[in-house]
Amino acid sequence: MRILITGAAGFLGSHLAERLLLEGHEIIGVDNFSSGQRRNIELLSEWPRFHFLEADASRPLDIAGPLDWVMHFASPASPPRYLKLPLETLLVNAEGTRHLLDLAVAKGARFFLASTSEVYGDPLVHPQPEGYWGNVNPVGPRAIYDEAKRYAETLTTAYQQARGVSTRIIRIFNTYGPRMDPQDGRVVTNFIVQALKGQPLTIFGDGCQTRSFQYVDDLIEGIRRLMEVEYHQPVNLGNPEEYTMLELAQLVQELVGSRLPFVHQPLPQDDPRQRRPDITRAKTLLGWEPRVPVREGLARTIAYFRELLYTSPEVSS
Ligand code: UDP
Repeated sequence: MRILITGAAGFLGSHLAERLLLEGHEIIGVDNFSSGQRRNIELLSEWPRFHFLEADASRPLDIAGPLDWVMHFASPASPPRYLKLPLETLLVNAEGTRHLLDLAVAKGARFFLASTSEVYGDPLVHPQPEGYWGNVNPVGPRAIYDEAKRYAETLTTAYQQARGVSTRIIRIFNTYGPRMDPQDGRVVTNFIVQALKGQPLTIFGDGCQTRSFQYVDDLIEGIRRLMEVEYHQPVNLGNPEEYTMLELAQLVQELVGSRLPFVHQPLPQDDPRQRRPDITRAKTLLGWEPRVPVREGLARTIAYFRELLYTSPEVSS
């Protein structure tokens, strides 16, 4: 197949591109490096079937030749990153999704949207099934991401219904693994980099808020399975193993083998108190469930960052 992936320099886009290249497909990767990393494109460029287009995915793209899939993974995704790029985040998920859906129509391609568990906001239902409509503050700081992804889901659904595009929507819960940007400000990268550098671990608020962490290979497997099924409703992809941030900090310390103090910093506004996916739909539809336990996934991720800090100490300075 010939597949367009926006956000190919990003953490998820680059893993997805690699998986599809390994299967023998041809990939056109798009990124403008607003939050993606050049080293991810350098890795992918070793494949002759990978082509890179440096472009902003919020604007129409001029792609020659046929396409089987348009997969939209471009967006700043960590809270500090999207807070720094508010309008870009809104545009790539709103205008970008529209242009990419038009491209899918023009090429007769299928369309795949990377949505997010953030559509559930600060959820009042726990765990979160796809049928839960969410609790999002439309004018809060996170709205630039949450509402843009919600709109992207609406737009995708409208193109499926009005234009007959074969669409897929996944809601991605917190995902971690090698190739995350060490400076993206997420909790997993912050804790690992802090622990490896012997710095105190920064706990926001009291640390009792929860997240559920999925290893990247599990996510990519879920995506791959959904591509094979004609199903247009959103599908949660996440690992239901739920941790408080204090528990996560302790686990990272233990795996790194260091005992460092915790420093508490203010909880960001509208930070969700809890998050855990109900994955019944993915299990039933795709026969999918996460296989990598958090301990093992974190150990692999720590090994990656240890190597990265050793070979390129400037990346986390
Ligand atoms: N967090 C933390 N310390 C950090 C970074 C984040 O305690 O150094 C908390 C953050 O407030 C949130 C959780 O960890 O409650 C997950 O944050 P992240 O930015 O990874 O992703 P989110 O799930 O909020 O999008």
